[in-house]
Amino acid sequence: MFDIKTELTTNPKEKPAPEELGFGHYFSDHMFVLDYTNGIGWHDPRIIPYQPISLDPSSMIFHYGQSVFEGLKAYVTVDNEALLFRPDQNFKRLNRSNERLCIPAIDEELALEGLKQLVKVDRDWIPSAPGTSLYIRPFIIATESNLGVHPSNNYQFIIIMSPSGSYYKEGINPVKILVEEQFVRAVKGGTGEAKTGGNYASALKGQEIASREGYSQTLWLDGKENKFVEEVGSMNIFFKINGTVVTPELNGSILPGITRDSMIQVLKSKGIPVEERRISIDEVVDAYQNGTLEEVFGTGTAAVISPVGELKYLEDKMIINKGEIGEVSQMLYDTLTGIQYGTIEDAFGWTIRL
Ligand SMILES: *Cc1c(COP(=O)(O)O)cnc(C)c1O
Repeated sequence: MFDIKTELTTNPKEKPAPEELGFGHYFSDHMFVLDYTNGIGWHDPRIIPYQPISLDPSSMIFHYGQSVFEGLKAYVTVDNEALLFRPDQNFKRLNRSNERLCIPAIDEELALEGLKQLVKVDRDWIPSAPGTSLYIRPFIIATESNLGVHPSNNYQFIIIMSPSGSYYKEGINPVKILVEEQFVRAVKGGTGEAKTGGNYASALKGQEIASREGYSQTLWLDGKENKFVEEVGSMNIFFKINGTVVTPELNGSILPGITRDSMIQVLKSKGIPVEERRISIDEVVDAYQNGTLEEVFGTGTAAVISPVGELKYLEDKMIINKGEIGEVSQMLYDTLTGIQYGTIEDAFGWTIRL
């Protein structure tokens, strides 16, 4: 097996109260680190106390954005077991992102083993209040000290973990989303399907415009015709039209969400028609106008499901399902969180108990 050295902290931190958690504010006591050196490959997997990293100011990550990341969660089940949801899929996707960003592939087995050992070491950091979880952030950065534009010769792969609060403290509140018509997030052939920081940096402007208008997120259209629906930027998007659930097909510029894939599988298993295909914003507006737009929801690891209560495109303000969560959205939310917290049998084989 893998030889992962562990150095435990002598100075454990105090854990925040469940109601103070929020998202991404606190970090557990340890982190996993793996180095890459050109000519040697990935080496020295280790678990060490959570700490700052020291890099030369000329490190390539600071200049040309060569980095990738992942996001997943560990949960405490109703039987008090620690559980991971489809972590193998995250490391598979990390390697697809690596390929696009010219970062050498990691050993997915090693990464998973490192993650499991890290979660075991920081087991007490998985909060157990309803709806809470331990958010896990694996990422890779280019660490070579060099201002030349070329793929870095050195990298660091790090996993950090952050206890996170319940996304829905007072029930599931539908969000208001603004369809962005000026800026684009990604184009075919670009980096839209890779989980890389640059996609987020370029999406901030749309987010800013949406917030200014009182919307919490941006729905992105395709970068070529500004016509076909892509995604929300940290969530994939689904529309229930006249009984059929439709989500944009993976076209090279959409991030292939693991929650998206899980939702499609759950819908199929329940016999609910689901289509992955191109869908134009005009089709959505038409469905709204003729009364067949029944539900809209975003999917992603953080919220699982975010029902959309209002969608605004140009001058059209569409209020969906009276601004309330729909039946199918609720079923999907209950099924996925049930599997994640161990209250529903995992018929799909998605979970790993530690
Ligand atoms: C991570 C991410 C998602 C959601 O993916 P999940 O695997 O379901 O968490 C959707 N869109 C973008 C741009 C993302 O980065």
